[in-house]
Amino acid sequence: MFMNQFEYFAPKTPGEAFELMGRLGSKARILAGGTELVILMKDRIIRPECLIDINNIEEFKGIKYEPGKGMVIGATTKIADIQYSEIVKRKYYALADAAGEIGSSQVRHMGTIGGNSCNASPSAETPTPLVAYGATVVVSSATGEREMPLEEFIQGVRMIDLKEGELLTKFKLPEPSPKLVGRYAYMGARDANEIDFVNMAVTLELEDDKQTVKSVKLVMGSVFIKPLISTAVTALLTGQKFSDELAAKAAEATQGEAKPITDVRASAEYRHEIVGVLARRLLKEAFGAAQEV
Ligand SMILES: Cc1cc2nc3c(=O)[nH]c(=O)nc-3n(C[C@H](O)[C@H](O)[C@H](O)COP(=O)(O)OP(=O)(O)OC[C@H]3O[C@@H](n4cnc5c(N)ncnc54)[C@H](O)[C@@H]3O)c2cc1C
Repeated sequence: MFMNQFEYFAPKTPGEAFELMGRLGSKARILAGGTELVILMKDRIIRPECLIDINNIEEFKGIKYEPGKGMVIGATTKIADIQYSEIVKRKYYALADAAGEIGSSQVRHMGTIGGNSCNASPSAETPTPLVAYGATVVVSSATGEREMPLEEFIQGVRMIDLKEGELLTKFKLPEPSPKLVGRYAYMGARDANEIDFVNMAVTLELEDDKQTVKSVKLVMGSVFIKPLISTAVTALLTGQKFSDELAAKAAEATQGEAKPITDVRASAEYRHEIVGVLARRLLKEAFGAAQEV
């Protein structure tokens, strides 16, 4: 459990961080909350010579909401700040809900939303609702910025679209329609400090008749190498009057889309079953909530 010796840097501005990253190159690793990185270092899976702690850079943290424009969440914003934010709960309920399900209180107060995506674990909880709400990420370097949908930034297991010298600096969430509801659910071995077998988020909006689906998006986590958007659910439900039968059919379709694996936590067969159960449950829950808006 002893880490290698390393040099520690704590820049206070983006410019200082980019200068350090340019100078130290592959010798350095970015430290956000450290809830993943420090474990890898303690297990001696990685032995970085330098750590660049980005927590003191004000520009990279915080939750800002502008009516009509949407929300910007800094990459080093703590998971707990998202869990307890009233504006996140009000506008992006499924994201606050997912944040509240991560690890333990200690993990949520240390871990950051940026680290949760940069870690690129298929079972990560916040990417699923973020993708459901249409989030994009901003990646910055000394030379400028790039913006892309989160589902493109996460490329696979532990793989992200980040080049040397670049940092994930913020998430942008579009303003949700006033009638859009979002719901999140997961299945794991227990309530705290577990890794999900399957997680899922749904966003849904109804027409004025409160029966016809105007828009719907279902995203699955832990059943593919990255967050998986169901095209079948959108195709089957959009423009249709919602019913239990249709929800069951859509849920069955998600089972055809999911590509779960067997690992130490659950078998592919079990995950496959859970995908159907969660999809049916979440679609019905989202429909019920959308009728109340
Ligand atoms: C006990 C325990 C329980 C957990 N339970 C859950 C859970 O239920 N659900 C879940 O999703 N996760 C869980 N995790 C995983 C982890 O806590 C989260 O993924 C957390 O959000 C990681 O954020 P961090 O800031 O601590 O990342 P760090 O450990 O600091 O960094 C993780 C990786 O991302 C890189 N990185 C971080 N931020 C940036 C950035 N802005 N730009 C570029 N690279 C960056 C780092 O260099 C590192 O490679 C758990 C972890 C522990 C230890």
